[in-house]
Amino acid sequence: MRINKFQRNSKPSMASRNCAYGRGNVNFQAKFTTPGHVWPGSLRDGVLRAYYVWPDFPSISITGEACALDCAHCGGHYLKLMEPATEPEALVKLCEEKKKAGAKGVLLSGGCDARGGILNLKEFLPAIRKVHEMGLMIKLHTGLVDSDLAGQIAASGADIASQEMVGDPKTIKKVFGIDAKPRNFLSTFENLRDAGIPHIAPHIVIGLDEGKVVGEFMALEMLAGSISPSTIAFVVLRPTKGTPMEGVRPPGGDDVRSVVSKARLLFPDTKLVLLALRPRGPEAGEPDGRFEIELGALDGGIDGIEHPSSAILAEAEERGLAVRKIGAYGVLPVEYESRLFSE
Ligand code: SF4
Repeated sequence: MRINKFQRNSKPSMASRNCAYGRGNVNFQAKFTTPGHVWPGSLRDGVLRAYYVWPDFPSISITGEACALDCAHCGGHYLKLMEPATEPEALVKLCEEKKKAGAKGVLLSGGCDARGGILNLKEFLPAIRKVHEMGLMIKLHTGLVDSDLAGQIAASGADIASQEMVGDPKTIKKVFGIDAKPRNFLSTFENLRDAGIPHIAPHIVIGLDEGKVVGEFMALEMLAGSISPSTIAFVVLRPTKGTPMEGVRPPGGDDVRSVVSKARLLFPDTKLVLLALRPRGPEAGEPDGRFEIELGALDGGIDGIEHPSSAILAEAEERGLAVRKIGAYGVLPVEYESRLFSE
């Protein structure tokens, strides 16, 4: 087993010593590690990146609140939190304003059509090209795409393409209400890769199936057999008011730890990041579910956390990690950090 510099030089903190999957736990090693893999529970470069998305990387919905799906975990709720730009001209204008106000990049997303593609995406691609030419970095949430659309997305200049990867067909049907299979989700990433999108960032929703870990390991294994993402981004199911999952129990720290650990083993050189979309308030559970989720991610080998708590930053520093604060979204490719902040 290879031990990296950070691991040799660090000692487990109180939290990791008490943790079932901590670095000293023999069962954990036997269960998840194989020769040649980086040991989970540590980071690749001894740095925990703390991402602060707003205000330099605003989120924009190209469909406003419109969505043909009524997913059981979302019900369109999260579209309401994004700025709307429902016409291509409006998108260009809004991005010009954002650029003038100092934005460095944008997240473009929107509601889906009945087959899981982003509504009207094709129509927006010339406008997205203009946004690219303004010099804004673009993360585009693509929905499911075929090879033709993937080629058009690549031509638009999008820097980062993201989409959920789901490994269980029953979960897809139950949550999204569509007949797509995990293979169709994987094809989207393969199409984006083959089209030459510079960075691909699959999203894994931990606990997508009513808070339980069902297809997450399979999703990671499928990706590992086919894709070289620049980032794997983790969302943690947030029981959302007004949706059928309002009352479910969200995943806990152990769930997050097991999924992130698996990703660390399968993708030793890929950046892993915990996104802001996770239980961060009372819905995370008592006494401090938010910290437990973050701690699970840290133990599992996460490289960055969007909007981390001060407690997890203190924990990371106690473990000997350097905390690097970055005003960007967590899928920012590592090589863009100097480009973005030296300007
Ligand atoms: S397709 Fe997206 S925006 Fe629409 S309900 Fe599902 S998760 Fe929410």
